[in-house]
Amino acid sequence: MRKGISPDLIARVLGGAPKYTIAELEEKFPVRNLPDGAMVTRIAPSPTGFFHTGNLYPNIIDKKLASQSGGVYMLRVEDTDTKREVPGAVDVIVGALSKFGLNIDEGMIGDDREIGAYGPYTQSRRKEIYHSVAAELLATGRAYPCFLAPEEMDEIRKVQSAEGLRTGIYGSFARDRNLTEDEIAARMDAGGVPSIRLYSTGDYNRKIYCKEGIRGSVAFPENDEDIVIIKSNDGLPTYHFAMLCDDHFMRITHVVRGTEWLPSLPLHVQLYNMMSWTPPIFIHNATIDILDDETGNRRKLSKRKDRVAAVSNLWADGWAPESVLEYVFNLIVSGYEEAKMKNPALTIWDYPVNIKKLSVSGALFDMKKMEWWAREFIASLDESKYEITDRVTNWASEFDADWYARIQGRREYLHNILNIERDNPKRIRKDFVTWKQTLDEIAYFFDDVFVGANENSPTDATDSRANFHSPLHSDILSEFLGTFDSADSKDLWWNKITEIAARFGIKNGDAAMALRVALTGRTNTPDLYSIMQVMGEERVIKRIKNAAT
Ligand code: GLU
Repeated sequence: MRKGISPDLIARVLGGAPKYTIAELEEKFPVRNLPDGAMVTRIAPSPTGFFHTGNLYPNIIDKKLASQSGGVYMLRVEDTDTKREVPGAVDVIVGALSKFGLNIDEGMIGDDREIGAYGPYTQSRRKEIYHSVAAELLATGRAYPCFLAPEEMDEIRKVQSAEGLRTGIYGSFARDRNLTEDEIAARMDAGGVPSIRLYSTGDYNRKIYCKEGIRGSVAFPENDEDIVIIKSNDGLPTYHFAMLCDDHFMRITHVVRGTEWLPSLPLHVQLYNMMSWTPPIFIHNATIDILDDETGNRRKLSKRKDRVAAVSNLWADGWAPESVLEYVFNLIVSGYEEAKMKNPALTIWDYPVNIKKLSVSGALFDMKKMEWWAREFIASLDESKYEITDRVTNWASEFDADWYARIQGRREYLHNILNIERDNPKRIRKDFVTWKQTLDEIAYFFDDVFVGANENSPTDATDSRANFHSPLHSDILSEFLGTFDSADSKDLWWNKITEIAARFGIKNGDAAMALRVALTGRTNTPDLYSIMQVMGEERVIKRIKNAAT
């Protein structure tokens, strides 16, 4: 084995002697005592304060794998890139996860709160662990201090590009890989602050076979880059090194991450081999793509361009988390939709995820399909338990002050409205998609936002309501009013309409339409009799009178 540097120099390079030996860390974070086959997964977001809808994809897989195997689902915060950090960001992540029912078992549960025996769960608080492992690598010649300045690296990159070579610090470009102890000390005396680099023994012309959870064995060129493991500016680890130490000492069994990490797999396998640690199973999930409105090309969901890319927008727009979750789950696991059709009571928690069957190509985001899942979900709610009423009200209380003021204190009225056409389980209405749209859909029940057929003078010929404001319609309505009794049964009510239709020589449907438009301002509504029952006699009479004049 290559000779490393002395303990004194290691302490100088790392700014302090290491706190632990590897053996002590192994003991401090023992192999977990879990049943055979239990999977330990983690989500590892950066605290940017933004929860991307695309992140749901790996998060759902992580949660499912852990829960279906009796394992652990963990939240670890990857904050080594301090530039991207936003205060309160962990609360945002934890809040979003819990709305989706993706509650974590271990790790960060808030900005400054964590649970579990394998912490700390925030990388910036794990410096002692990274430095202890780095010290071991320095002592055994598997890592070295490097004094390349940013300008020098730029220069190297330029030379490499000009000569058509791969960029990076490898081979003869790894200038400092063989510095002597004296040379290192002299650089530090002169004010140099080193980064710590891996001393790579890989050969780019050789192949390494890496196991990938979905793809099986994948061949890559070996990694020969002396990648940075500890950064010079803040002494924090890079992603690669932090992942190695954390996934090992947190005893993670399955890593689910975006395909952008697939090219790093040979490096990661090399790091595990170097430590003689068993690597977790790496799974690189597909991305959620979308067809670009302008170009028509397929691309990743974009935080900048796509409103649905921000989970916070999904809340604000009134999407039910349960239906978004089902929609995304169906993108991940083909077959769920058919199973759900056969058994509507099925939830994603009953349906197992099989790693081998996960998709490797990107899934296409389809708004119509997300709406379909939303309609099905709302239709499945039990309004006899006020499930829709409560959800709509909670949404309004958070996101729509006008609607909240309108429905507050009118729980029964709202419930009766939302309960229309829900008595036959085979024919439950499916016109509600989001909470916001649900409220817009039922707006005509509320006098302050109801727009009648003859209000705002719909003179515009494209406004279909204009067709329902004529002397004939006034006559039909007056006629109806003369016979109206709110206690009428549905049959009796309908008979009255058919009689009026016969008298005016028009179709039954046209007579009912006159009434529908007068009461709702719309030509398309759920069952009119039920609407009138819910609106109540006083409102019905008032609206008909208004429309008839
Ligand atoms: N912080 C990394 C990311 O957001 C995590 C990748 C991983 O899960 O290992 O991409």
